[in-house]
Amino acid sequence: MEAISKRFFLYLSNNKSLDRMAKRWGSKFGADRIIGGEAFSHAIPLITQLNQEGFQVTVDHLGEYVNSVDVAREHVQECLQSISAIAGHQLDSEISVKLTSLGLDISQDLVLEHMELILSKAKESGITVTIDMEDSSRCHAILEIYKILRQKYENIGTVIQSYLYRSDKDLDDLDQFAPYLRLVKGAYKESGKVAFPEKHLVDENLKHLIKKHLLNGHYTAVASHDEAMIDYTIDLVKEHNIPNDRFEFQMLYGMRNQLQSDLLKKGYKVRIYLPYGEDWYGYFMRRLAERPANVSFALKGLFSK
Ligand SMILES: Cc1cc2nc3c(=O)[nH]c(=O)nc-3n(C[C@H](O)[C@H](O)[C@H](O)COP(=O)(O)OP(=O)(O)OC[C@H]3O[C@@H](n4cnc5c(N)ncnc54)[C@H](O)[C@@H]3O)c2cc1C
Repeated sequence: MEAISKRFFLYLSNNKSLDRMAKRWGSKFGADRIIGGEAFSHAIPLITQLNQEGFQVTVDHLGEYVNSVDVAREHVQECLQSISAIAGHQLDSEISVKLTSLGLDISQDLVLEHMELILSKAKESGITVTIDMEDSSRCHAILEIYKILRQKYENIGTVIQSYLYRSDKDLDDLDQFAPYLRLVKGAYKESGKVAFPEKHLVDENLKHLIKKHLLNGHYTAVASHDEAMIDYTIDLVKEHNIPNDRFEFQMLYGMRNQLQSDLLKKGYKVRIYLPYGEDWYGYFMRRLAERPANVSFALKGLFSK
């Protein structure tokens, strides 16, 4: 049943008509419970509050699979403005970007041009930019772009997904860049040809990648709501005397608030991934696919009138 609902919501996440409808109905679905508002200005009070509570943040301007140069340029402008606002308001926040929102499906040159603008602006204010990982058909292209940019910029990170068979090799390949990596299980609908079909193998591989990256001595962001992954990381860092400034936990805004606070109280660094923008449909559907209970308010909202 769980597998069927996961496939169903991941299928819906690619539905263009529902995407258009969702933009019109927005908060009717309760999207505001897991999204920081439709504009960066709405997210500022939230980031301020999270910072005051002791959390760090990474903001993501929602949007993906852009196939128009003009729209990609709008995304770049939005990223540049959010960087200015983070610096201006002295917020403790990084930014996360999806390369398909910046023109990945149009051309590599275009994305590189856009990322250079974003990274150089972010560098002026000491802000790190993490390239989110998208579906497996784009993984190679995204990692190639990361490698090109990493040679010029320190303030860049990316993501490795444990559900992909290729990820162990990718981690080895990236080792030479001493990369800042966010390690996740993976959120897209993938075939058994490229990804572990069984959840326990995805979990085991995430533990393997966490251990390898931490013991390689590189900064590691463990991005998971799964206590088994968090406990595993805590045991590992204790066993190997890895200091708290070599790793952090990351969770999505609105998910597992108590666990987020507990980790903070124990002295761990916790970063909240805060998406904002009008293009929330794909993000929202992937969260439903992971755990319908996470966003059950959305389903209630749908039938409440
Ligand atoms: C900060 C962040 C950034 C991410 N970036 C990317 C990215 O760039 N690319 C990408 O593909 N994916 C990304 N993801 C999504 C990720 O790949 C997973 O799809 C998502 O995190 C679900 O996996 P999980 O490890 O959290 O735990 P799951 O495997 O979904 O859950 C494991 C167990 O944890 C418990 N649990 C989980 N959620 C809850 C909850 N809300 N309440 C109570 N118990 C719960 C349950 O017991 C569940 O069985 C990101 C995730 C995070 C947190």
